Amino acid sequence: MLMFTDRKKYYFAPVFALLFCHAILAPGCSRRPARISRLQWCSMGTFAAVQSADSDTAERLRTVAATRFSQIETELSAWDPESTLSQVNRAAGSDRAVPVSDAFLDVLRIATTMNHHSAGAFNPLLGPVLHLWGFGSETTPTATPDRHALHQAFSLAECSALSIVAIDGHPAVKLARPGMRLDFGAVAKGYAVDLAWQDAQRQGLSNALIDLGGNLRALGEARPGRGGWLTGVKDPFNPDRLIARLLLRDGEAVATSGNYERFVEINGERCAHIIDGRTAMPVKGIAAVTVIAPDAATADALSTALFILGAEQGERLLADHYPDSLALWIPDRQPAAIIASEKMEVRLDRTAFP
Ligand code: ADP
Ligand code: MG
Repeated sequence: MLMFTDRKKYYFAPVFALLFCHAILAPGCSRRPARISRLQWCSMGTFAAVQSADSDTAERLRTVAATRFSQIETELSAWDPESTLSQVNRAAGSDRAVPVSDAFLDVLRIATTMNHHSAGAFNPLLGPVLHLWGFGSETTPTATPDRHALHQAFSLAECSALSIVAIDGHPAVKLARPGMRLDFGAVAKGYAVDLAWQDAQRQGLSNALIDLGGNLRALGEARPGRGGWLTGVKDPFNPDRLIARLLLRDGEAVATSGNYERFVEINGERCAHIIDGRTAMPVKGIAAVTVIAPDAATADALSTALFILGAEQGERLLADHYPDSLALWIPDRQPAAIIASEKMEVRLDRTAFP
């Protein structure tokens, strides 16, 4: 699912939304100094991290999160030929429907719903198009793909050719046309974070932050009275610098889609790893989008959809279908400027800090 041309590079990519222990920024706000334990490892082709304000629970939290991330990778990885996703893709065009888990179905439903809400901009069947543009393939193209091949690949991104059937009472997925290829790169990480978050909550863990490749969800708060976890919004033109900060409240999730971590250079121009599902072309004009949503799967899928739609159409998508989510867009021109949705504006602290 995480279709990277250069996995190693991405393993060590810096976090999209840099996290702070607020004690570092404003010492003395509370009588108890916050001691944040942070553990980081690699999972699902990217970095994973947990932070815990209760240092003795960090290890447990990591076990919980790592277990879930591995499970989701086993099911949804586009890299693992044995994953359920790879089996579904291999069976495309045959009569065979591949049995899938509830998690697979959940992710599929979130993705197809986003496809519907975004009028096709978001599409989990863009696998063949992404492959042609060099995302997820062994080679990286340096020129625009052949027109005919692109048209051919795009014709396979047809959601009506995807069906969910029952085999002996169990759900199974079938892709009707050969060459069709599902890709959950825009939603699976967020979904995995939600599962880990639910497990952590069930096990009584609290005051923690779970992160998978820049998809974060907060449990409790970083310090008493803080009301959540403070996150930073990076300057896409200088990812070492932060241009705003946001308080992630208990239960909320944040995700960022950007063109500055993963891209290909075609004809000397930087192309994002996000394709417009209405045109099969890489999205231009936006450097980054950050979304806060009630859960991490929604934040993940929305960040990709809103990256494609831009601020104007994106605001409409939020108002019509995701009234509890907020977003900000950073156009792809320097210096970095923030366009915030109405609800985001209220939450955003534009205080610049080093
Ligand atoms: P990241 O994976 O870097 O966090 P995103 O969440 O925005 O960023 O997901 C980007 C991934 O989503 C791409 O690598 C690709 O797998 C997939 N993708 C690209 N374009 C689309 C699209 N229009 N609809 C759905 N998924 C897409
Ligand atoms: Mg996403």
